[in-house]
Amino acid sequence: MENNTTQEDTLDKIVSLCKRRGFIYQGSEIYGGLAGTWDYGPYGVALKNNIKSAWWKMFVDDRDDMFGVDAAILMNSKVWEASGHVSGFSDPLIECKKCKRRFRADHLDSDACPECGGSFGDVRQFNMMFKTHAGATEGDGAVVYLRPETAGGIFVNYKNIMDSLHPKLPFGIAQIGKAFRNEIAPRDFVFRLRELEQMEVEYFVKPDAWEDAFEEWRTIMHAFADAVGLRKTTVHENNIPSGELAHYSKRTIDFEFDYPFGRKELWGLAYRTDFDLSAHEKHSGVDLKYFDEETKEKFTPHVIEPSLGVDRTILAVLVSSYTEDEMGGEKRVFLKLKPAIAPVKAMVSPLLKNKPQLVEKAREVYLALKKEIPQVAWDDNGNIGKRYRRQDEIGTPFCITVDFDTLSDDTVTLRDRDTGTQERVPASELTDRIKRSII
Ligand code: ATP
Repeated sequence: MENNTTQEDTLDKIVSLCKRRGFIYQGSEIYGGLAGTWDYGPYGVALKNNIKSAWWKMFVDDRDDMFGVDAAILMNSKVWEASGHVSGFSDPLIECKKCKRRFRADHLDSDACPECGGSFGDVRQFNMMFKTHAGATEGDGAVVYLRPETAGGIFVNYKNIMDSLHPKLPFGIAQIGKAFRNEIAPRDFVFRLRELEQMEVEYFVKPDAWEDAFEEWRTIMHAFADAVGLRKTTVHENNIPSGELAHYSKRTIDFEFDYPFGRKELWGLAYRTDFDLSAHEKHSGVDLKYFDEETKEKFTPHVIEPSLGVDRTILAVLVSSYTEDEMGGEKRVFLKLKPAIAPVKAMVSPLLKNKPQLVEKAREVYLALKKEIPQVAWDDNGNIGKRYRRQDEIGTPFCITVDFDTLSDDTVTLRDRDTGTQERVPASELTDRIKRSII
């Protein structure tokens, strides 16, 4: 019986699987770690790259109105003055008078410290941007911030894209990259990090066209959730009431996911009016208006912003795919990942490691497959049952075994991860079979 666990302990099981199988390790682990940082290992980075590629395909390549950028993380600090981050990107910080632990005031349920029961001091605003200095001097003029979101790098390139590619409205600029937030209380594995990665779009529209664009991106975000394997019943829209909207936004939907620690924000979709371009125009003194050739009007475009966290997506994917069942009378753990995002698409192995003819034939099958599908792995460690379990745990959809029959009829066994069923398939059909499943 299959059981996709949703209990509290699921997170512990996922964290442990990620470490054991080389997906995600604690950052700086041999030095005791660094809060809010995690390192992606071989399978984690493959999963991450597959998720980012799926996003880039759906949000950029499949469209003809999108432009990609990869802006510098370090930016002129005036960018963050204009965007309001220097004055307002803060969370309410509260400190326990007794144990001195710090918390986010808006995340607490009671007036007593959850660690020691002590009382709290006053709430103060804590700016979450990491601040450093560029160059050898440490004066105020040399202050730079690690970007707290990738959006800033998009807005400062709006004029470059306009001047070099001359797009007509509506069009969008996309970026994937790291962002840094000095979160007061990083927690819940890769959910709340201090170093995170975002996939963001700023989609520029005529002011009266924002509603249609908002609906379009809303639909695309649901399609993306589906593409990476998040079940519809676990993704929820939270329409932020007008009284709680950020000052620049006229409409925002938080896409929330049912994590093992509760329903929390996964992604955001916001209508940001002309706030950003107007603010950058004011602070830089550079004209960022759009000239409409048809109507001869000059105006500041409005913006729809779908903003997706890479790490929160990965966590949601892991939670969605983590499955326990029983196979052959034994308890089994596997990741039911969509083949398109699985780090390894197929594992090839010889039935017996000590039979040179089998190994040679299996290498032949493996190399032919790997030429066409790079995310194919070789595994000849331990017995075949152990290999299957290992691949199940990393979510490999197919295992291919070369046995003595292969030597005479050129067929192999193709094992399906989810059902464990095995069928004999001509080796020549493998590439097509696997390719079809990963589109
Ligand atoms: P939260 O309310 O959970 O702090 P936020 O509303 O500040 O999140 P946004 O500023 O909208 O988040 O950032 C866009 C996206 O970036 C989020 O939807 C999320 O996917 C991701 N993200 C934001 N902060 C973090 C973080 N500290 N760790 C991991 N991902 C994050």
